[in-house]
Amino acid sequence: MKRFIQSENRSQVTLLPECLDDYISEDNPVRVIDLFVDELNLIELGFDSAEPASTGRPGYHPSLLLKIYIYGYLNRIQSSRRLERETQRNVELMWLTGRLAPDFKTIADFRHDNGTGIRNVCKRFVFMCKQLNMFTQAIVAIDGSKFKAVNSWDNNFTARKLEERMKETDESIERYLTALETADKTPDIEPEARTHHLREKLTKLKDQMQGLKEVEQRLRQQPDEQVSLVDPDARSMATSGRGTGMVGYNVQASVDTNHHLIVAHEVTNLGYDRTQLANMAFQSRDAMGSDALEVIADRGYYKGPEIMKCEEAGIKAFVPKTMTSNNRALGRYDKRDFTYIKQDNEYQCPAGKRLKFRHSSIEHEMKINVYYNSTCPSCELKKQCTPGKERRVRRWEHEDVLDAAQARLDSSPGKMIQRRSTVEHVFGTLKFWMGSTHFLTKTLKHVSTEMSLQVLAYNLRRMMNILGIEGTMKAIRSVGA
Ligand code: SF4
Repeated sequence: MKRFIQSENRSQVTLLPECLDDYISEDNPVRVIDLFVDELNLIELGFDSAEPASTGRPGYHPSLLLKIYIYGYLNRIQSSRRLERETQRNVELMWLTGRLAPDFKTIADFRHDNGTGIRNVCKRFVFMCKQLNMFTQAIVAIDGSKFKAVNSWDNNFTARKLEERMKETDESIERYLTALETADKTPDIEPEARTHHLREKLTKLKDQMQGLKEVEQRLRQQPDEQVSLVDPDARSMATSGRGTGMVGYNVQASVDTNHHLIVAHEVTNLGYDRTQLANMAFQSRDAMGSDALEVIADRGYYKGPEIMKCEEAGIKAFVPKTMTSNNRALGRYDKRDFTYIKQDNEYQCPAGKRLKFRHSSIEHEMKINVYYNSTCPSCELKKQCTPGKERRVRRWEHEDVLDAAQARLDSSPGKMIQRRSTVEHVFGTLKFWMGSTHFLTKTLKHVSTEMSLQVLAYNLRRMMNILGIEGTMKAIRSVGA
């Protein structure tokens, strides 16, 4: 052992007294957490019990529990039980808490009861970034990703899944009934134990069927005809992989393209993104305090009224069009082959004919104008155009807004690459941090709180990477959290 670095003797009394602070270097991120939370006004941010009660046993100050959680989410320790253990053995946490070690219930209750406060702290951090002029470019990429809930696939029911499950259970009951009947007819061949086992199985299946019937009742009362037994707010959602899905939540995030900080986020239980563009854009604008904002999103966000809301608010949206028509794949002309002549309110078709405005209809609260030409039946190009009597082109009354947005996107070909390189790795990092289970809490309210802690930890880590530990501490002191 002579030629190796020697450790200290465990029973040796140190000559000079060491203090806890000696173990925490000046560039330890835990110092940033400590400073950041100490600078916060927790009463203003809406934390319960930030003011001590005049009677009863004194409790832990919310700043202590907030520090524990921020430390936990920064270091991938999200569970309250694991955090309790860490406060007893982890030197950084001992330093952070001043050797206080709350039990897991106190830690879990803090997260459970202070959703508003925690979400406000997350917003406060973004505001601080704004004060530090980190959002000068005013461009954000918006995206959504599905995160797993504490609800297994088997504990989630849609009408189709329930029907299949009932059918399977019914078939199993039938099978066991037949087997039981055979066993009853041949008591000398079938042993008693098997008959007993069959009866037990049958009772279980009948109970299961009863349970499914109760779920059916609940399913009928749900507006979206979906029931999750463990986490009632979780929903079955399709994911990008073909034929894949999960029971979870859809997390929306808006990320600034310059520093890749998460400017705004929201957890929803809708399985699609198309109604989120304006909401996320407005939240980003408010958080960044910028009037001239640009938002970039993928085609999942393409929805006329959403793009229009952004345009009306002065926000430039870059969203590629979703092609819903199958005409091009079938070798026919699609809408792009028809030119809109604005001054005449007519379309010009590939044969050079004009399609006149005929009538309007309301679809999904949108006024759709319909155009066609009555000479289509005698047209030479009809085969390549339509299998119907005449080719009809439909146009939303505000489609010029969408045309202008498309022209803008066409003139900025790098926007989609910018979107991908900005927002997609953020979700990758968050999912990696969250591990295989993603959320630990249940219901939309508590899952949102959990997400805010993740986002706060992510932004804090980003800022430390950009400014360094010393720079981040200087910045927090300069603007005051
Ligand atoms: S079928 Fe009608 S719309 Fe199509 S190219 Fe011919 S005239 Fe134009």
